[in-house]
Amino acid sequence: MSHVNFDTSQKETIEKRKEEMRHKREAAANLFHENDGKEIHGRKMADVVYFNKDYVNAKEKFNATSLTKMVEEHLENDYKKRQELRETKEEIRYYPSSVGRCLRETTYRMLKYPATPKSGTNLQVLENGNSFHQRMEDTLADMGIMIAPELSLKDESLCIYGRSDAIVWNFLDDAFEEEEDTSNQIELYNTKDEVIYVGPKNRVLLVDFKSIQDKSFNKLPKKKPKKEHEMQLQLYFYLTGINKGILYYENKNNQQTTEYVIERNDKIISDVLEEIRYCVDLAKQRELAPRLLKPTDVQCRYCDFREICWPNAAPFTFEDLFIEEVNE
Ligand code: SF4
Repeated sequence: MSHVNFDTSQKETIEKRKEEMRHKREAAANLFHENDGKEIHGRKMADVVYFNKDYVNAKEKFNATSLTKMVEEHLENDYKKRQELRETKEEIRYYPSSVGRCLRETTYRMLKYPATPKSGTNLQVLENGNSFHQRMEDTLADMGIMIAPELSLKDESLCIYGRSDAIVWNFLDDAFEEEEDTSNQIELYNTKDEVIYVGPKNRVLLVDFKSIQDKSFNKLPKKKPKKEHEMQLQLYFYLTGINKGILYYENKNNQQTTEYVIERNDKIISDVLEEIRYCVDLAKQRELAPRLLKPTDVQCRYCDFREICWPNAAPFTFEDLFIEEVNE
């Protein structure tokens, strides 16, 4: 860094300039309050206006001078807080995102075993997935076809608590039951537990968004989605009463998309429910499901509980994450 030596008159000029700026800011603040926050110098004020006194010292707050480090620290702390909040919840919970995953992992989660903390870099990958969901919800809302961006999913007897992705008006079918046919009526709830839809079950579609790595995207079969994703959607059908939906995939690397229309399948639903009941029973007895995989299997390599499940296995690095897909 180069140092500049100012002479006395230059220093005076700088001080004078600083003093002028301070007066201007104070005058702006006074004007803001006098005008009830509506106008300044003939210009409309934003709802929130920042002044010098509002300064946030990010360097001190994060004890870092690199924006990358600050972002990562923020994400890591935020994630830790959410994990801790989850772990303080007394009751056993089955999260629908566990469908199709290793049953031992599911029981670790239900019994609130401590997961390996995620690195800031890893969390940025998750944030990207969240942004994709947000982008899709905004788009569907702008298109005017969305009923709700998310639905609340609950089944106390199965200890299920979670949420689905978007619900849209059905554009795939033309023949619908009449409004009067109450046997096909369903009620759907948003995440605040408010009723968001009352009507025939086949008037709406459930859309589940998945963002996946290029390699996995290119390996998707033409006619069928990934098995665990279909199982998850079938569980949503069971919990909501909806009979049809779409699995909508986006390639993380280039935003290419593909979609699969999925109909309710009672056989898959029954298999999924059996798996959930098995995990719930084990968790109620404070037991873990047996290990059915090897530490070198993809699921084990990126599992949040790898360190306690395979304490002597070699760790995997973040770079491995790009070899196979995770975090959809
Ligand atoms: S490390 Fe492997 S076997 Fe153990 S819980 Fe995770 S995925 Fe399952």
